[in-house]
Amino acid sequence: MTPAIPDSARRDDLPTSVPLLDVSRGNAMLRDEIVEAITRVVDSGRFLHGPDVARLEETLAAICDARHAIGCASGSDALLLALMAFDVGPGDEVIVPSFTFFATASCVWRLGARVVFADVDPVTFNLDPAKVEEAITPATRAIIPVHLYGQCADMDALLEIARHNDLRVIEDAAQSVGAEYHGHPAGSLGDVGCISFYPTKNLGGYGDGGMVVTNDESLAEKIRRLAAHGMKTRYYHSLVGINSRLDSIQAAVLNVKLAQLGRWTNDRRANAKRYHELFAAAHLDQRLVLPKELPDRYHVWNQYTIRVPHGRRDELRAKLTERNVGSEIYYPVPLHLQECFRTLGYRRGSLPVTERLCQEALSLPIFPELTAAEQDRVVQVIRDVVLDERAAA
Ligand SMILES: *Cc1c(COP(=O)(O)O)cnc(C)c1O
Repeated sequence: MTPAIPDSARRDDLPTSVPLLDVSRGNAMLRDEIVEAITRVVDSGRFLHGPDVARLEETLAAICDARHAIGCASGSDALLLALMAFDVGPGDEVIVPSFTFFATASCVWRLGARVVFADVDPVTFNLDPAKVEEAITPATRAIIPVHLYGQCADMDALLEIARHNDLRVIEDAAQSVGAEYHGHPAGSLGDVGCISFYPTKNLGGYGDGGMVVTNDESLAEKIRRLAAHGMKTRYYHSLVGINSRLDSIQAAVLNVKLAQLGRWTNDRRANAKRYHELFAAAHLDQRLVLPKELPDRYHVWNQYTIRVPHGRRDELRAKLTERNVGSEIYYPVPLHLQECFRTLGYRRGSLPVTERLCQEALSLPIFPELTAAEQDRVVQVIRDVVLDERAAA
C-alpha cells in the first residue's frame, strides 16, 4: 500500500522534531543485556584478547563469508593495516575515491605512498571503473573501492581491472556490513575488507573499533602480527607494526548488538522503501534525485542520501534544521580539495562528478527505529521547501 502524502489535516499530529540518528533507541531494548556483557568483561579482567573478541571475529568472518577476521582499533586502522600488509609505501600509488570519508585516503598518505583520486558514478556515489582505469600508472599497487552509504561499488568491473593490472583490492566496507553484490557479502569480494564499528555505523559499538576480513590465510596472519607491533612471540618483533586492538568491552557490546543486525538492516530497508513511496506520492521524485538500489545489490542503507539539484541543497538543509529535522552532508568538501592534500596538485574541476555531489548530497534520517510519523514529517518539510508552499509551517 502506498502511504498517504502527509497533508495539512495531519500536520499537527506529526512530531515536531526528528533526529538524524538516535542511537539510544536501539540501545534501550538491549541495555540490560549489554550491561551484563560489560560486567562479565570487568569481572574477568581480560580487557584485551578476551573470548568476546574471538567470538566477534568468528561471527564477522561468517557474515562477510571470509575465512579470517582480525579485530583492530578502528575502521581507519583496518585500512592502514591492509595497506601495510601489502607493503605499500613510497613510490607506490593507490587509487581511491575522493567522495568518501577521510580515512580512505589518509591511510595511503601515512605510508608515504601517493594518493590518486578517481571520480565516482553519480547514481551509486561509488568509484567509476572507467575513471579508475584512466588513473592507472606503472606505480599503481592497489584500489580502495568504498561501498558508500551501504551499497557495494561496481566490483565486477573493478576486480577485472585489478586482475589485468595486478593490483590489490581493499574494500572499504566501513558503511556496508551485511551489504551484498550478486549475492556475495561486502568484505570478501576483494583481497581484504575493512569494517568499522564507529557508533553511527550499522553495527556500532560504544566507542571505536574495527575489523579486517580476508580469505588469505598468510595475509591474515601478517595483519594480526602488524596489529600487535609486529610480534607473534612476545617481545620478538619480525615487522614494524602498530598497536591496534579491539577492546574486549567493545567486542562484548557488539556481540549483543550483532543478534539484531539482520532485523535492523530490514528496518533500514523498509524505511528506504517508504521514503521512495512518500517522495513519489508527493511528486518530489522529479525535483530531487532519490538514491537507487541497483538490481544486483543488497543495500544496507547506512545513509539515505538524496541529491538536491540547482544549488538548493544548503537552503533545504537550513530549513530542515530550522524545523528540527536532522540531516547531514556526507561530504561537504571532496578529499582532493582538502587543504592537507593540496600538494597532490588537484584543483576545482579535477573530479567534476565528485564536486557536484559535494554540492548536492543530503543525508536524511534512516535509522532502524525511525517511526512512520517521523518519516512523514521529514517528507512534509522537504515538500514544503521544494514546492515552496506553506512555507510558514
Ligand atoms: C567510518 C568510516 C571509516 C573509518 O572508520 P573509523 O572506525 O571511524 O576509523 C573509513 N571509511 C569510511 C567510508 C567510513 O565511513
